[in-house]
Amino acid sequence: MTDAAVAKAQAAHAGLEAPRTIVVIGGGQAAGWVVKTLRREGFDGRLVMIADEVHLPYERPPLSKAVLAGEADIETVRLVKPDDFDALNVEAWQPDSATAIDRAQRIVRTQSGREVQYDRLVIATGGAARRLPDSLVQTSHIAYLRTLDEAVALGERLRASKRVLVVGGGWIGLEVAATARKLGVEATVVEGAPRLCARSLPPLVSRFLLDLHRANGVDVRLKASLTKLEDHPNDANRIRATFADGSTLDADFAVAGIGLTPHTALAEAAGVKVDDGVVVDHFGATDDPRIFACGDVANHPSAWLKRRVRLESWANAQNQAISVAKALLGNFEPYADIPWFWSDQYDVNLQILGDIPADAQLAVRGDLAGKRATLFHLEDDAIRGVIAINTPRELKLSRKWMNQGRTIDLATLTDASTALA
Ligand SMILES: Cc1cc2nc3c(=O)[nH]c(=O)nc-3n(C[C@H](O)[C@H](O)[C@H](O)COP(=O)(O)OP(=O)(O)OC[C@H]3O[C@@H](n4cnc5c(N)ncnc54)[C@H](O)[C@@H]3O)c2cc1C
Repeated sequence: MTDAAVAKAQAAHAGLEAPRTIVVIGGGQAAGWVVKTLRREGFDGRLVMIADEVHLPYERPPLSKAVLAGEADIETVRLVKPDDFDALNVEAWQPDSATAIDRAQRIVRTQSGREVQYDRLVIATGGAARRLPDSLVQTSHIAYLRTLDEAVALGERLRASKRVLVVGGGWIGLEVAATARKLGVEATVVEGAPRLCARSLPPLVSRFLLDLHRANGVDVRLKASLTKLEDHPNDANRIRATFADGSTLDADFAVAGIGLTPHTALAEAAGVKVDDGVVVDHFGATDDPRIFACGDVANHPSAWLKRRVRLESWANAQNQAISVAKALLGNFEPYADIPWFWSDQYDVNLQILGDIPADAQLAVRGDLAGKRATLFHLEDDAIRGVIAINTPRELKLSRKWMNQGRTIDLATLTDASTALA
């Protein structure tokens, strides 16, 4: 990120007056961090947050873990305690849904008929769990997981079930399966691809997850092409799944974790550039200098990956939002974090940092089969990406080295008998 880019962003916003009213659409983690940061940075103007869920901003990672298991609730996952939120003096219009952005008049309209004029607008609308096609689903016994209310309902249903069918072998599907097993529920995961988490993991780690789930009693079926999901012919309270090879599988109900559809319709209808998410620059600004976007809905240029990316991760939702809040107030600090994501399944904490191409040659430190290993992707002796399996300390150190651009000797890195320092 160059000084020239900062200067360019400043120039694009130079003609604008300082904001008196900032409107944030969305009420998730990114929206929560925008309003928190704006007040922390001294913004004392009008702040309106339009959010379609009933809850104040909360964090989603526990939804597929502790909340699903019945071990956590809204109080545990809140981003801001209600009293602290009150102190932020935010007009929270919720539950209400923003239905239109009129860029000419700078007005946002909502479903309930309200409208507000903005000086700056933030689109932090996240996304929705992608739905299986209607042509395939002929039962009501199908659940999706994106919101707290969905997680609570799904948890109750899981605890009352004997067998669940999980459609999709990605992060959400695997975490749901792991929680189901923890609750003593039989779980089958069906995945169309030949391996698990194929979009974000190299084959070696997909294999690790496959072994992990099978060892925990999950029936994982790869290259499984689901053709029909319907009520069980003899019991309308259960389901039957049919696959392309003619085989069938019965379960109490199904959960689908097949990805996310970003909520871009509002931006698109308003003529803001959208291409796999709302297109923003290093500061979260769209092609309209008054409109910004952040979190799961934003497609930004990643300095680390050297390409545009739309990230779906806790760290991105928080830190991109902080950068956007500062830019709204004219303080242009580029968002240049190294992408970071984690997942918890059974006794495994798996973290991914940086760039791990599917065909990366990984240097392995530790013992993958023993569930304690760090895998490095190196380029010119510098770490480009890390996968840490129960090795959070090594991930932390790697992050430091990656930020410093430090080069490392491969033999040192892979010698697990010597601590990394
Ligand atoms: C079950 C689950 C588990 C996860 N686990 C992990 C994990 O272990 N590690 C990790 O790094 N990340 C994890 N994530 C990802 C992380 O939680 C997300 O990246 C993060 O929540 C994104 O925040 P956001 O604010 O951008 O979007 P969201 O959290 O989706 O918030 C957007 C909000 O805006 C609302 N909205 C949308 N359109 C409108 C509108 N027109 N008007 C009003 N409101 C609107 C939406 O309903 C939603 O409430 C997980 C996500 C889920 C769902």
